[in-house]
Amino acid sequence: MHKKIRLLIIISVLGLLALSGIQGYLINNTYKLEKAAFISETRKSISRIDDLSPNLDIINEIWQDGFLNVLADYRAKIIKKQQVLPKFDSIIATVNDLYITAYQKDLRDKNINQTLKFQKIVRTAIVFDSIQRDTLFIDTNKTPLHLLGDYFTLEEGHKVSNSLWLTDHSSDRIVNGSNKQIAFNLQFETEDRMNIEGWEKIVLGRMAFLLFISILIFLLVFGLLFYAIKSFMTQKKIADVKTDFVNNITHELKTPLSTLTLAIKMLKVDADNSSSANTRNFVNTIERQNKRLQKLIDQVLNNSLGYQEIQLKKEIVNAGDYLNMIIDDFQLSLGLKSIQIDKKITVNTEIYIDKFYFTTALLNILENAVKYGKDDLQILITANSNQNFEISISDNGIGISKKELKFLFDKFYRVGNTEVHNVKGLGLGLYYTNQIVKAHQGKLLVESEVNVGTKFTISIPVK
Ligand code: ADP
Repeated sequence: MHKKIRLLIIISVLGLLALSGIQGYLINNTYKLEKAAFISETRKSISRIDDLSPNLDIINEIWQDGFLNVLADYRAKIIKKQQVLPKFDSIIATVNDLYITAYQKDLRDKNINQTLKFQKIVRTAIVFDSIQRDTLFIDTNKTPLHLLGDYFTLEEGHKVSNSLWLTDHSSDRIVNGSNKQIAFNLQFETEDRMNIEGWEKIVLGRMAFLLFISILIFLLVFGLLFYAIKSFMTQKKIADVKTDFVNNITHELKTPLSTLTLAIKMLKVDADNSSSANTRNFVNTIERQNKRLQKLIDQVLNNSLGYQEIQLKKEIVNAGDYLNMIIDDFQLSLGLKSIQIDKKITVNTEIYIDKFYFTTALLNILENAVKYGKDDLQILITANSNQNFEISISDNGIGISKKELKFLFDKFYRVGNTEVHNVKGLGLGLYYTNQIVKAHQGKLLVESEVNVGTKFTISIPVK
């Protein structure tokens, strides 16, 4: 039982962990989707600022003219290749602040509320003519060349778009005292990138409701599971203590009861010989009640036995003889009560049973038929043998409603109508009967209809 509980708790906790894992995975996916959606929205809203803004246009023209002049100097060999990029830098340094201010103004005009930084980085810069291609810069993805705008690293930003500036240029330069025409083409590829400050917070903010509900449900399920396990353990502890107590006390009661039984037997001999009718009646009453007390105590002691614990001493028994004997004894024990018992026992099979336990099971059912019967009670006992050996005991008593039938073999279960509460009992008889039948690898079945009657069938394998 302890093993079962531990297994149950482990399975519940594992189930909860798996559920949390799935929940975490779904939240993570939602986070990724929300992030992608947010970045794409922002990208869309800023994508054309650079092209459409007149202020940025003027600034772009300034640095682009400057770049072309530097490149013309380079082509005329007035400056060296390694001087080109530093010269670009110094041109950018003169316009960059203006560029950032103009860009931020355009963002405000477009009502873009996020704190957003923007930059252009160079992917490739190639000067070429019909004869040769001269690569000034090519991006290896690791060290981007910052061109314009704010400074932030590749990891800190997201790509907005690529742009290509393809142009041709021709101008004159004085080289070695003579005028020389310089002509070239330029391929200048850039990438626009943005950095949205606190985008994580914004995305999480959009998911706040989902996160709140998820955490709430998780806490609720976790709390309920914890509460259920805790109450289950407490209940189990209380039940164990109760069972131990009941077992101990009933056990202690057995010894004085046995002494009492012995004393009653002796008293009865004396009373039968010499006492008045009144005394004999009293002694009989004491004997009956003593028997009843003993039976109740046996029932309570047996209730702690599950079918696995019942140790059967099986023997081969002739089914017909055995049943007839049990029924005859039972009929005798009813004394003068007018109860009609019919039997249809046609079998002569041999069955392999523990006579003591099996008799207890049969008597429990027969006694119940009497206890919960009505006037003009009729009991029908049939036995037949096919693949299994089956004994059915039907009565025309008060019956049991459908919804109560499924609890009938539970410990301490008694049907809840007042008619039944007039009859004393502990609700252990059928539980024990079912355990005995199970110990015989059999099945106990019940069919019943209120006010019509009840039929119990014991089915055990034929040996
Ligand atoms: P007890 O008789 O001590 O209450 P049992 O386990 O023998 O306990 O029976 C459980 C309950 O099933 C009874 O309280 C009674 O309500 C119902 N029951 C059992 N047998 C019959 C029957 N033959 N007819 C109607 N009700 C029955």
